[in-house]
Amino acid sequence: MNDILPGVANTWRYLESVVQDIVQSYGYEEIRLPILEDTDLFKRSIGEVTDIVEKEMYTFEDRNGESLTLRPEATASVARAGMTNGLLHNQKQKLWTSGPMFRYEKPQKGRYRQFHQFNVEALGYDGPDIDAELIIMSARMWQRLGIGKIRLEINSLGVPESRARYREALVGYFSGVKNRLDEDSIRRLEQNPLRILDSKNPDMQEIIQAAPVMLDYLDDESVEHFAGLKALLDAAGVPFEVNPRLVRGLDYYSRTVFEWITDALGSQGAVCSGGRYDGLVEKLGGRATPAVGWAMGIERFVALYEACGGESPLTVPDVYIAALGEGTQARAFALAEELRDQVAGIRVEMNLGGGSFKSQMKRADKSSAAYALILGEQELSQDRIGLKPLRSGDEQESIALDDLAAVLQGKLSGA
Ligand code: ATP
Ligand code: MG
Repeated sequence: MNDILPGVANTWRYLESVVQDIVQSYGYEEIRLPILEDTDLFKRSIGEVTDIVEKEMYTFEDRNGESLTLRPEATASVARAGMTNGLLHNQKQKLWTSGPMFRYEKPQKGRYRQFHQFNVEALGYDGPDIDAELIIMSARMWQRLGIGKIRLEINSLGVPESRARYREALVGYFSGVKNRLDEDSIRRLEQNPLRILDSKNPDMQEIIQAAPVMLDYLDDESVEHFAGLKALLDAAGVPFEVNPRLVRGLDYYSRTVFEWITDALGSQGAVCSGGRYDGLVEKLGGRATPAVGWAMGIERFVALYEACGGESPLTVPDVYIAALGEGTQARAFALAEELRDQVAGIRVEMNLGGGSFKSQMKRADKSSAAYALILGEQELSQDRIGLKPLRSGDEQESIALDDLAAVLQGKLSGA
């Protein structure tokens, strides 16, 4: 679990604000959810025989003996919140949420125990058009931020009926090579053979590569849905690859699944992953509600942005106010507030803790401010202030206090 330190947090806030603006502009609305839920919610939604539920959840009993779990992902909570708040009753929802998720993983680069996701979920929509919109919206994020080095893989997992036929084929295939399966996979062979395809064990990859693929078992409607999605992505100019082995690590997916993958970050290359989960709400006890969404891992997103040469706008002060001598600090405080009122967006930092002229100017310089404002007793008695450019060799000027806001406004807007 990482501390996100000043500087780095600045990049986070910038990237978060960009993605929030984009999804809001597509008509998605924020929902904020608790980070604790009943353990049962995740068992029922993610599936008992998955990495997350079997080995990654932070689960504990509260004082009342109820089993609670720190959320390992957000989709189950969104579905739960939609149901318990009546948001899915005869209405559709386009939602986004973000925050920390918790999984007891083996920590490594790009894989942490507390990590953060930005999630987008659309509930009540059944066509491939919304699947396409969600993907196109993520493509816009990469484009807006100058992120290259990322590719899109898509697949279809069909519906429960076609998946049952595929499951049989998988059991047949994996039973034939049972002596080469690892312990996890042997256990999953009976309980959840699809999960074998999501194995992270390198020794299993050859066997997995030769397994039957879901696309050969798709039902007609899923074929049509998938074709619809591909046509819309083509029309939007969003390139993709069909990866018939893409399954995703959670049980609730149906039909469309996709992943944005990068090779720029080493082995943890999935930056944004999602898919359709038409059966989830019903499985949780609600009315059947088609739904689709994606989750972006913010740590990986930040790392990829930096790997692509991205920088965040620095938040340095525009002016640093130094005050020297009797009565000047109180006046400087008032002046700072006046500037904050009158100059839109200005960043003003006050010198705090007094100090000599030299030490205040040192701090002003260290703050990276563009200008120092210097208020001494003599200036104050004449209702003037010194304005010293810190990033150029220009001379210090003396400005009438009455003109200060207008002068700064002009300088900061480059006039
Ligand atoms: P993997 O197969 O790599 O374990 P997953 O299927 O468990 O991934 P999801 O549950 O789909 O991943 O999570 C969505 C996104 O969240 C991933 O694409 C990734 O960017 C990010 N993510 C998942 N787990 C972690 C983690 N432990 N640390 C950092 N980011 C993570
Ligand atoms: Mg995982």
